[in-house]
Amino acid sequence: MKKLMAANWKMFKTWDEAQTTAREIVEMAGAVLPEDRELLVLPPFTSLRGVSKQFKSIKGFSTGGQNFYCEEEGAFTGEISPRMLTDAGAAYGLTGHSERRHIMGESDTLIGRKTAYGVQSGLKIILCVGETDDEREKNQIEVVLKRQLDLGLEKISRKISPENISIAYEPVWAIGTGKVAGEAEIVAAHTFIRKTLISIFGNNGNKIRVLYGGSVKSSNCGKIIALDNVDGVLVGGASLHGESFSEIVLAKR
Ligand code: PEP
Repeated sequence: MKKLMAANWKMFKTWDEAQTTAREIVEMAGAVLPEDRELLVLPPFTSLRGVSKQFKSIKGFSTGGQNFYCEEEGAFTGEISPRMLTDAGAAYGLTGHSERRHIMGESDTLIGRKTAYGVQSGLKIILCVGETDDEREKNQIEVVLKRQLDLGLEKISRKISPENISIAYEPVWAIGTGKVAGEAEIVAAHTFIRKTLISIFGNNGNKIRVLYGGSVKSSNCGKIIALDNVDGVLVGGASLHGESFSEIVLAKR
């Protein structure tokens, strides 16, 4: 399984800024991306086509949308469809990010509908799951992860090709805070996610990538991707600079 090294640029970067960072990533990682890695950037929608164009001929590079709605088209002001993302060059789509759960108020049920619709529309979906600080304090990590996985994956076919879905474990308290989950905490959560995936998809659950996200940077990435059941990373803050994201992508295990 190739490690998926993903950049979430959130609501950062104008067209020019995105083009510059994409160019830096191509220059620094384009020719030297290891065989066992895949690089993904999720830019804001306005820059998706431009970044996709720069990545198009580079082996192992792809782009995706940070969000989409679960309809092909229609009266859904402010939304965007998987078809439009694909048209702009995206191969991936993100669902369930904690900022959409907690700031935009997306429910597990809506996230499940979006995940299923995204897969059905031909996007490779990364479903984000993770507990809050309060849930961790109350010892509810497994209950929360199970609920988010069960409802998030409820509507997708049990026969899905495993490369079309990935899970990102992102403890909410570690996102954008500089606090990284400890190695034992990451391994425990990823092992639980793996078991849950196997209970849902049978043996294919072993082939679904489980990424870690939460204050990943070049100095901690190598250790994180060497852990059991960690099949890549989803990076926010440290992915905004071409050099730091390239260092993360190329980090030695
Ligand atoms: C994220 O946005 O998914 C994320 C993990 O952010 P950061 O790396 O900044 O914690």
